[in-house]
Amino acid sequence: MSQIDAVLERAVRHAQEHLRRLDESSVAATATHDELLARLSLPLPERGTDPSQVIDELVAATAGGHLGSESGRFFGWVIGGALPSALAADWLTAAWNNNPGIFACGPAGTVVEEVAGAWLKELLGLPSTASFAFTTGCQMAHATCLAAARHAVLARAGWDVETDGLFGAPPIRVLANADFHSSSGRSLRLLGIGNRAVEKLPADAHGSISVEHLRSALSTKSGPVIVLLNAGDINRGTSDAFDRVIPVAHEHGAWVHVDGAFGLWAAASARYRPLVKGIEQADSWATDAHKWLNVPKDSGLAFVRDSASHCAAMTVSNASYLSQEKGARHPIDWTPEFSRRARGFAVYAALRELGREGIEALVDRCCAHAQALARGLAKLPNTEVLNEPVLNQVLVRFKDPSARAAEGEHDRRTEAVIAAVNRSGEALFGSATWQGKRVMRVSVVNWRTTETDVARTLAAFEKVLATPGPA
Ligand SMILES: *Cc1c(COP(=O)(O)O)cnc(C)c1O
Repeated sequence: MSQIDAVLERAVRHAQEHLRRLDESSVAATATHDELLARLSLPLPERGTDPSQVIDELVAATAGGHLGSESGRFFGWVIGGALPSALAADWLTAAWNNNPGIFACGPAGTVVEEVAGAWLKELLGLPSTASFAFTTGCQMAHATCLAAARHAVLARAGWDVETDGLFGAPPIRVLANADFHSSSGRSLRLLGIGNRAVEKLPADAHGSISVEHLRSALSTKSGPVIVLLNAGDINRGTSDAFDRVIPVAHEHGAWVHVDGAFGLWAAASARYRPLVKGIEQADSWATDAHKWLNVPKDSGLAFVRDSASHCAAMTVSNASYLSQEKGARHPIDWTPEFSRRARGFAVYAALRELGREGIEALVDRCCAHAQALARGLAKLPNTEVLNEPVLNQVLVRFKDPSARAAEGEHDRRTEAVIAAVNRSGEALFGSATWQGKRVMRVSVVNWRTTETDVARTLAAFEKVLATPGPA
């Protein structure tokens, strides 16, 4: 057997073993930083090692150092799993190892993006003429969309940002839902639009900025404005009232960008689509395939209504936008990267594996599991569910049962209960600060999660909460 055949077979076996054992393994990592470092930090090797041995030893040295993020009981952050065909397509992507920046460097990889991009617009109800880009994640999808926004709002003010940069440019205001995700903030910084440009508009009980607040913020000053909205806030899964907010932003000439990292997928479900009503009126949308679509990580998606602004912000080729329309689509003109992974294959595979119906069922199922977790947790002693789950996100607080416990004690109790459940290996959750309080955040986006996982998770909480003394 050749060396390459041997090592690929080893890798397949290791991967299969990891995935087969998800139900018996701890969802949380069990190895500490020091243990991992001790096992991995060999002196820089002087001589080479046989590939199969490298892989076997890599697996052994990292044992216990992988979260069970593929498990159906992984509810931390917002992290999806990998659908079978998407995982396999991702392996093949590495084996083919083309560079689909331009058609000539990756013919199939560029065409598969062209097809998957069109499918995604249809699935998510976005304008069929919107341009798109396959990026590393939602963060770089924001950077792509906001670069297009920066081009457009400055061009309207008579400024050519690609030629002249931002020195001396008219200032850009960013009016943002106060609960915007830090990845949009960082994208704005990367684009030379600092934190000071961002004016936070408070969200109401339903998570939307108010039309009145927006209107008054827009009326105080004229000039270039970008409005930053949420489809699926990270904490409660709430969205802006797009159908009412976007028309007001457009009356004032603002560019509307939507962070829909996971929330945009509500548009794929008849049941949850009303949550994002009017979202198609925005100017740009950023989302992830590596969250709710369950494609392996390194897969974000940017969509831009005004394709000319998108191309102006990103292009490096000499061909004009019009001449590209006739021939092949060159991703390099739409993405921030030069050489890049052929991300389209895994997305294409996931869309085919599930189809429209399967994606809708995945979204509906995850939301139902989130709601079941919320109902089950609410019944447990000293446990408060802080939001009525509208989508797949739930916030929970564990109360210190002692009579005069203050918020600080509830914060500590919340952290302790999360830590105890994570330590049990049964399920994994993260914590966050929401409205000044520590909370447990529940996120359900994994295709593997079942009712059994929900029941097993609730049982783990029951056990921790029944244990006397500090959790
Ligand atoms: C995860 C997330 C992001 C960032 O996405 P990456 O793919 O990690 O870059 C942005 N916004 C929201 C709401 C998210 O949940």
